[in-house]
Amino acid sequence: MLNIAASCRGTRALGPGVRSVVWVQGCPFRCPGCIAPQWIPARPAHLITPEALLPSLLADPAITGLTFSGGEPFLQSAALAHLARLARQERDLDIICFTGYLLEDLQRFPARSGVHALLAEVDVLIDGPYRQEENDNRGLRGSANQVVHHLTDRLADTDFLNQPRRAEIHVQDGSVWVVGIPPVGMETQLNQTIRKAVKDVWSQASHHLHS
Ligand code: SF4
Repeated sequence: MLNIAASCRGTRALGPGVRSVVWVQGCPFRCPGCIAPQWIPARPAHLITPEALLPSLLADPAITGLTFSGGEPFLQSAALAHLARLARQERDLDIICFTGYLLEDLQRFPARSGVHALLAEVDVLIDGPYRQEENDNRGLRGSANQVVHHLTDRLADTDFLNQPRRAEIHVQDGSVWVVGIPPVGMETQLNQTIRKAVKDVWSQASHHLHS
């Protein structure tokens, strides 16, 4: 069983191609400045089996890959490994995983933990905790201490460090999500844009009322 915070289908902001993303609930790292602090507490969020989750992730035939993020994916490694295996029975996908652990620490986990099973499915692992003072506004990782490990050749041609950062606004189930690694300053820019848009709509509505 997976305990997920959210999932999304069809993003171009968290890796090459068109991807579906699974964000798991619960993370032991509690990095200051974490982009998703509501997903840190280890509490039940949305409990779902990999079998039940998979159809929504693959419903679009354009999907070329999965991204696992969080929260901390390796706290749910056995279930995510199972999800990855099921997905690959359906389609030849690449898999990217973000983690707050270091690769060398993951490799020391016992075999029964499921950690090695997930590592065996992951093509690119982006490891290490987020350090906001090392956020250099560069690439597909949150801060400069995080390392992009190509565990297979599958995405060897993708330069994760020199990709421009992208963030998409998704509206799903009545909620608004920022998907991706936001460029530095995006939050302020977004707030200003939303405030201006609301002001414009309000002034147009008021103009219509008075004309
Ligand atoms: S590892 Fe990631 S999800 Fe966990 S607290 Fe740090 S930034 Fe947030």
